[in-house]
Amino acid sequence: MYGTESLAINEQGHLTLGGADIPALASKYGTPLYLMDEGGIRKACRAYLEAGRKHYGENFFPAFAGKAFCIGAMYRILAEEGFGADVVSGGELYTAHRAGFDMRKILYHGNNKTRAELAEGLDYGVGRFVVDNVDEMRALESLCAERNVRAGILLRITPGVEAHTHAYIRTGQIDSKFGMAIETGAADEGVRTALSCPHLDLHGFHCHIGSQILETEPFAAAAEVMTDYIAHVRDTFGTVVPELNVGGGFGIRYTEEDTPKTPDENLAALAAALKAACAGKNLPLPRLMIEPGRSIVAPYGVTVYTVGGVKTIPGYRTYVAVDGGMTDNPRYILYGSKYEFVVPERASEPRTMTATIAGRNCESGDLVGENVSIQPVRPGDLLCTLTTGAYCYAMASNYNRVPRPAVVMIRDGSDRLVVRRETLEDLVRCDIL
Ligand SMILES: *Cc1c(COP(=O)(O)O)cnc(C)c1O
Repeated sequence: MYGTESLAINEQGHLTLGGADIPALASKYGTPLYLMDEGGIRKACRAYLEAGRKHYGENFFPAFAGKAFCIGAMYRILAEEGFGADVVSGGELYTAHRAGFDMRKILYHGNNKTRAELAEGLDYGVGRFVVDNVDEMRALESLCAERNVRAGILLRITPGVEAHTHAYIRTGQIDSKFGMAIETGAADEGVRTALSCPHLDLHGFHCHIGSQILETEPFAAAAEVMTDYIAHVRDTFGTVVPELNVGGGFGIRYTEEDTPKTPDENLAALAAALKAACAGKNLPLPRLMIEPGRSIVAPYGVTVYTVGGVKTIPGYRTYVAVDGGMTDNPRYILYGSKYEFVVPERASEPRTMTATIAGRNCESGDLVGENVSIQPVRPGDLLCTLTTGAYCYAMASNYNRVPRPAVVMIRDGSDRLVVRRETLEDLVRCDIL
């Protein structure tokens, strides 16, 4: 009833996630609290793997975009589900390595990896470096030469397809801090450089056209542009690259305004476009890589807060203050993101109250939602934000020295702590008096 299949209402009228009673978990672990339905995450992984195999075959490699939810337990789940993973920093790489993740299944992204980070990537043996620019390529080449090792690379290309949730634009968008544009010749310069680096193996190209994309057409368009580019590289440089990574950005349902495509629909469109484009250019089918982040985790996460004050400003609005805010969910203050909210103890009652959900931090913009519908609340009630599994814990901060919440995974109705709540001691552990 509340949008994701992970949520239900039990006999007590309580909201459940993955079969577990949310108010009971809130009393067990305290609030604010992140809850994640591990069963839902695993199902999402399987849906991508099945869709890829069904529509494209075995030459398909899905990698989770770690930036959406980067914790050790997540890498264990990904490994068990046969997924690869993207990392974008030494910290994400360390998290994956520490969890025992197979480094050959890591794609190392980032538009400005430091020399030290590149060296770590080489020493860990990551599968692919996604190289952003020629300077990075030269740095990687020299590090490989020092070590007498080779590195497998993909070049990040700006394809000139920019997706907005529904529409996409076929030109422009060469003005990006990420990647090398086809139109300006930067991509060709990247290919020329890569082919001249004796320690770098150019396996293919990568692009990422946007996030929260709710249609299949932008992915098909990106596949076409990238296939044209692979053909151009064959004709210009005499090299047929075997891999194409079309990035992530598959949309999800945050509110009922969003009608996302399923993994099956997205992969069907992507595979059809890629097969047609390759046939047209007389190219062998490349290994298809995708990088879903949000769609693997966002729908399966809930944040649980305790309501503090409820303040009505006559003629204006009612603020419901919660014991979290921009520190555990900065997406509202960053992008004005929309969410649904539920009072989990009265989940079956109608949401007749219009409220603005205010955080506890010292910023007027510290809201989690504006003019949203919730069950009428009183101080002391619990309040859940739905679909917070992506880019919430991952973006959480200690602003105002607020400890970051715990993360609890739920599988088949039973719960386990995967990130403990920060303590006051954690907050001061780097301070030197
Ligand atoms: C952010 C990002 C992703 C994941 O995007 P989602 O919207 O979370 O699916 C994948 N690849 C790259 C390169 C990204 O920057």
